[in-house]
Amino acid sequence: MTPSNFGHLAKRAAKRVAKRGATTSSTTVQPNTDEKPARPGQPSGANLTSKSGANKSAAEKSSLPPGLYVVATPIGNLGDISQRAIDTLRCVDVVACEDTRVTGVLLQRFAIATPMTPYHDHNADRVRPAIMARMKAGEAVALVSDAGTPLISDPGYKLVRDCAEAGIPAIPLPGPSALLAALAVAALPTDRVLFNGFLPPKSGARREALMAIKSLRATLVFYESPRRLAECLADMSAVLGDREAAMCRELTKLHEEVRRGTLATLAAAYASEQTPKGEVVLVVAGAAGEQAAADDAAIDRLLREAFATMSLRDAAATVALALNQPRREVYARALALAKE
Ligand code: SAM
Repeated sequence: MTPSNFGHLAKRAAKRVAKRGATTSSTTVQPNTDEKPARPGQPSGANLTSKSGANKSAAEKSSLPPGLYVVATPIGNLGDISQRAIDTLRCVDVVACEDTRVTGVLLQRFAIATPMTPYHDHNADRVRPAIMARMKAGEAVALVSDAGTPLISDPGYKLVRDCAEAGIPAIPLPGPSALLAALAVAALPTDRVLFNGFLPPKSGARREALMAIKSLRATLVFYESPRRLAECLADMSAVLGDREAAMCRELTKLHEEVRRGTLATLAAAYASEQTPKGEVVLVVAGAAGEQAAADDAAIDRLLREAFATMSLRDAAATVALALNQPRREVYARALALAKE
């Protein structure tokens, strides 16, 4: 399929829709039907640079089945957007985005004329019912964030949850995420990973949050503001001990930097350097054997949480697995806690 075939095939698809009397409620029409049928959200290639791409035709509009298309967008380098993301953003009825100015630049760059509607932390509860209503009426809605993958420390979870409850398909269009980009270059194990999003900004709460995950044998990933980087690394070093870590900054951008070292050396370096610019992900090695064995407080806390939804036996098994602890010991601890 050549890129220029897309508009032509989309028009053919729309003609078929018109013939059948179906409009936006169709769930079967796909834009590339002369090849093997595409799954929802799999439009074929589109011509990125043609001017006609900017004038969305009725054919393109009706070429996607209704649903929520969760579209990842670049975290810096625009070349990281996928062909499928471009095609989908062009074909949906509306793009729900955090900031129309930010997404507007992206859409303009790829000559996409789809209308946008703001969906962010401050209006989500008010706007969500209207977006749901549009999909229930047969529209295809794309959800994007300012950069990266929606829902990953970004809005979207409740919209996807409401779609699941209403039986509306949510279709992932995977792509860039700072989480995965950092993991890909941190040089730390990736077989078990805990994504923590942003730590609390104040030191006390931050140290408490770190204590709770100290004993986990999983590589830890954090998003962090460069303004808090030095103090955050100092707290990490104090609470987690001397572990390997990687500071990943401005990934995929001009000033991309990956700095590896122990938490102590990184903390010392940033304590004496100017605050770095840009966006930062911290990747930190998981607990080593002795550390993992030591933290009874974490076992107790997880057991108490697990008791809320599980039997004592299941809670013990789950926590033992999560913390990589001997099951018999965690079970004994669970019995003791249950008697308290
Ligand atoms: N949803 C996004 C994703 O999938 O990566 C993350 C959104 S979150 C609001 C923004 C944070 O992601 C930044 O504060 C930074 O920690 C991280 N981030 C985003 N882009 C980055 C980049 N190019 N390099 C390093 N970190 C980045």
